[in-house]
Order: sequence, then C-alpha cells, then structure tokens
Amino acid sequence: MAIRLGNSCSNCENLTASNACKLHGVHVTAGYTCDSFEMKAALKNDPNCANCARFHGPTCANPQKAAPEMLCSHWAPNNNMA
Ligand code: SF4
Ligand code: SF4
Repeated sequence: MAIRLGNSCSNCENLTASNACKLHGVHVTAGYTCDSFEMKAALKNDPNCANCARFHGPTCANPQKAAPEMLCSHWAPNNNMA
C-alpha cells in the first residue's frame, strides 16, 4: 500500500491558522485527514518537482529525471509552502 503525504490536514483548504478544522470545528494535526479533504489552491494549481517534498531526497521516485518543470505520481506537497 502506498503511503500518501498529500492528503494531510496541513495541506487542506479547511485548516485555519490555529490548527483547527473549520469544517468540523476540532483541533487537527498534520497526521490527520478525512473524506472532506480539499487541497489548498496554492498546491493544487502548480504541482511540480520544485515544490515536491521529495525533491533531492531519498524518497524521490525519479531522482535522475526530477527537475522543476517535471512532475510524477509520487509528488508530495512541501509543508513549508504557504
Ligand atoms: S476537512 Fe478533513 S482534511 Fe481538511 S482540515 Fe478538516 S479534518 Fe483535516
Ligand atoms: S520526480 Fe516525482 S517524487 Fe521526484 S521530485 Fe519530482 S514529483 Fe517529486
């Protein structure tokens, strides 16, 4: 089973600055997700290797080909992005 990083609450449009889910009204962390996950527009609109959490890391699926204009199905959002 593939473990996916992308659907974390930390990348969800419904997460507030105080780490609360505005949809469910509870405190959440990066370890949570739910069926109402909605990826932040900033991540959804331009996924590529440059904003992939795996870029230049040991879990990159295509280390020989990875480049800013590239993308693969293993893309994972970088939590450091706003
Ligand atoms: S909607 Fe779901 S995935 Fe999004 S912040 Fe709330 S609990 Fe997390
Ligand atoms: S090749 Fe895939 S896993 Fe590697 S940095 Fe690019 S999108 Fe991420």
